[in-house]
Amino acid sequence: MSMASESDSPNFILVPLMSPGHIIPMIQLAKLVAKRGVHVSIVVTHLDASRFSSTIAASGLPIRLLKVRFPCDEAGLPPGCESADLLPSFTLLPNFLNATKLLQKPVEAVLQRLSPPPTCILSDKNLMWTVQTCDALKIPRLVFDGMSCFTQLVTHHLYTSKIYQTPDPTQLFHVPNFPDKIEFSRSQLPALFNPGPSDDKGHRERVRETELLSYGMVVNTFHELEHRYIDEFRKLGRGRIWCIGPLSLSLSLCNEEDHDDAVSDHDCLKWLDDKKPGSVVYACLGSLSRLSAAQFAELALGLEDSGREFLLVLKENPEMERWISGDGIEERVKGRGFLLRGWAPQMAILGHPAVGAFLTHCGWNSTLEGISAGVPMVTWPIFAEQFMNEKVVVEVHEIGVSVGARRVVHLGEEEEEKVEDMVRREGIREAVERVMDERVEGSERRKRARELGERARRSVKEGGSSYQNITTLIQDITDFIYKN
Ligand code: UDP
Repeated sequence: MSMASESDSPNFILVPLMSPGHIIPMIQLAKLVAKRGVHVSIVVTHLDASRFSSTIAASGLPIRLLKVRFPCDEAGLPPGCESADLLPSFTLLPNFLNATKLLQKPVEAVLQRLSPPPTCILSDKNLMWTVQTCDALKIPRLVFDGMSCFTQLVTHHLYTSKIYQTPDPTQLFHVPNFPDKIEFSRSQLPALFNPGPSDDKGHRERVRETELLSYGMVVNTFHELEHRYIDEFRKLGRGRIWCIGPLSLSLSLCNEEDHDDAVSDHDCLKWLDDKKPGSVVYACLGSLSRLSAAQFAELALGLEDSGREFLLVLKENPEMERWISGDGIEERVKGRGFLLRGWAPQMAILGHPAVGAFLTHCGWNSTLEGISAGVPMVTWPIFAEQFMNEKVVVEVHEIGVSVGARRVVHLGEEEEEKVEDMVRREGIREAVERVMDERVEGSERRKRARELGERARRSVKEGGSSYQNITTLIQDITDFIYKN
C-alpha cells in the first residue's frame, strides 16, 4: 500500500516519562517523524513544555505539545517536582511513578478530542496505562524503551535462566545462550534482578510483562552497532522491532540542534576553542546521578592526577562545593580543568574538535552520543542497565576503558556506598591515561571509535539502515490503519 496523503497521514502520539534521559530522545524522534510529513503530538507537563518548546519551535516542525498538569500534590511530591531530575531525594521515586499513573485520565481526555485522531501511541515502557488507552482507542501501542538490543537480550536470558540468583551477589557468571561470552555479577545488574532497599521490583516485572502486550518496540540503536543482538532479539518473537538511532546524530546531521544561541555562546565551548584537537577529557555522569562529595572528590582528583586537560560537569550539591573550596582544586587546575556547574550542552561539547575522550556513566543516550562523536570513552557505570552498556563499549567494540566500578549504586543510595566499593582516583587516572595515550593501544582504540562513529553516521543518512527503518515504521503504522 502506498503512503497516505498529507491530510490522512498518521498521527503519532508520543508519551514520554518525565525525565531528561527519556524525554530528550522522544523529542528527537518526534522531529524525525514530523520531518517525514507525519502528524506528531507529544504529551508534556507544563515544566517540560517550558524546557523543550524552544528546541521544538526552532525546528520549525509542526509538532503539537499536549500539555497536562503533573499531579504533584495528589502524589505527595513537593510543588514543581515534575521531572525525575528535580526530585529533592530519590526516596520520592515511588511517589513520582504514582504521579505518572494519575496522568492516564487527563491524557485520555485530551486524546479523545484530538484531530486528526491518534493512530498509534509511542509510549515510554514505564507508562503501562497506555495499554488500556490504546485498547480503548483501538490503536497500536509501540514501546519506546530507551535501551539497547544487547540489554534486551541479556535481560531476557537472565530472566529466563535465573542464573543471577547466586548466594553471593559479587559472584561472576556468564550469561547463558548469549552470542558472546559476557560476564556479570548480580551486584552489577539493574533493579529487576538486583533491587535496592526502596525498589519496587513488582513495578519492573509489570513493565516487562506489559512490553509483551505491545505491537512492537522502537529502539534507539543502529544495525551496524549490534546486528547480532538485534537478530537474536527478533527471534524471541516479542513483536516488531524498529532500530532507528542514534536519534541525536540524525538531528545534528540535519543541523536541527544547532540553532540554539544559548548553546553556542556557552562559556565551556569558548574554553574548548582554545584547546588543541583531541586534547580534552569531557566528564559528565548524566542528568540523574548524584555522587556523594567523597566520590566526587575521587573523580576530580583522578582527572587532576591524569595530567590531562578536562571539562567536568557537576550538578548542584552544597557538600561538593564545600569540598571544592576546601581542597582548592579549582585554583590548582585553572586553565587546565573547567568545572561546569549545571546543565552541559553535551551534544555540542562532544562535537567539538578539542574533545578527545568522554568519561561517561554509560546511560544509553550518552553512550550513543559518545559513539556518534567517534571518541573513545572512559566508562563508569553507576545504576540501571549501565553495566550492560559498558560491555558494549569496552568488550564488544573495544572503544573504551573501564574505571573499574564494581557494583550498581542505586539512585538515592549514594551516601550509603561503602568506602571499599567506591571508584578510586587511581582507577580514573589509569583509565584516562590509557584512553588518551598516543601509543599503539590508544591510537588503535581511537581509530575504532572513529570508524564506529562513521558507521553511525552512515546509518542515519538517507539510504542508511536507521533512515530506512523510520520509513518502515511509518509505513507499518499506515498499513495498520488501513487494514483495521
Ligand atoms: N545531558 C546533557 N547535559 C547534562 C546532562 C545530561 O545534555 O548536563 C543529556 C545527555 O546528552 C543525554 C541525556 O541528558 O542525552 C542523559 O541521558 P542518559 O541516558 O545518558 O542518562 P540519564 O541522565 O538518563 O542517566
